[in-house]
Amino acid sequence: MNKHLEQLIELSHVDKEIDAFEPQIEEANLQYDALLATKNSITNEINALKQEIKDEQIKKHKNELHLAELSAKLEENSKKSNEVKTEREMKSLQLEEEIAKEQVSFANEEIERLEKLIDHKQSKIDELEAKAAEIDGTLAGVKADVDVKLARIDEERKEVFARKEALVGAMNQKGLSFYQKIRRWAKNTTAVAVRNQACMGCYMAISDKVYSDVIKGEEITMCPHCGRILFLEPSDAIGA
Ligand SMILES: [Zn+2]
Repeated sequence: MNKHLEQLIELSHVDKEIDAFEPQIEEANLQYDALLATKNSITNEINALKQEIKDEQIKKHKNELHLAELSAKLEENSKKSNEVKTEREMKSLQLEEEIAKEQVSFANEEIERLEKLIDHKQSKIDELEAKAAEIDGTLAGVKADVDVKLARIDEERKEVFARKEALVGAMNQKGLSFYQKIRRWAKNTTAVAVRNQACMGCYMAISDKVYSDVIKGEEITMCPHCGRILFLEPSDAIGA
């Protein structure tokens, strides 16, 4: 095969390998990122619950103040009841007392309801904090795994970049800029195989003449339809 063609095909493989690192890096980070996101959402939930508890405690406190006022009022009423002279005054006092007692029981119910709510939210917070602590426990291990994977990817990447550098150094400028012009639009299909006498870039059939040129491989042949560089795969084909 023509040496320049061989170099172009090799370069297209190397470029494809380089592009394949990005998704590998993303995948390596995936689990760690997902754990962090879960932990963040747990923290947000905890903070929201804490704020709600604070608001409910304020409400509870207001009810407690109200209770204190009511009990003072009831005490005052019972003192007054010793001094009432008319039945009318008596009835008015009783009415006031009834209303105050109703308010007392309402405030007590409200305090009870708020306490239950606060307890419930506090146990939810405890649950979430346990979950967050569990995540914290695994986070370091997962990070270490990610770092190992990333280091391995980085090693491989360095190796591929070294191969590319050597290859580009050996290629002539004309061939290289020809390749880069096609790669700008064709990306990882800059050099494509011919299968069943069709270009595997645009999937159009090529003529017998072009096909025989590709088979000979004496010069660089481009697909007459799409302009990609064509080559014939060795029989023990590269998986593409
Ligand atoms: Zn084509």
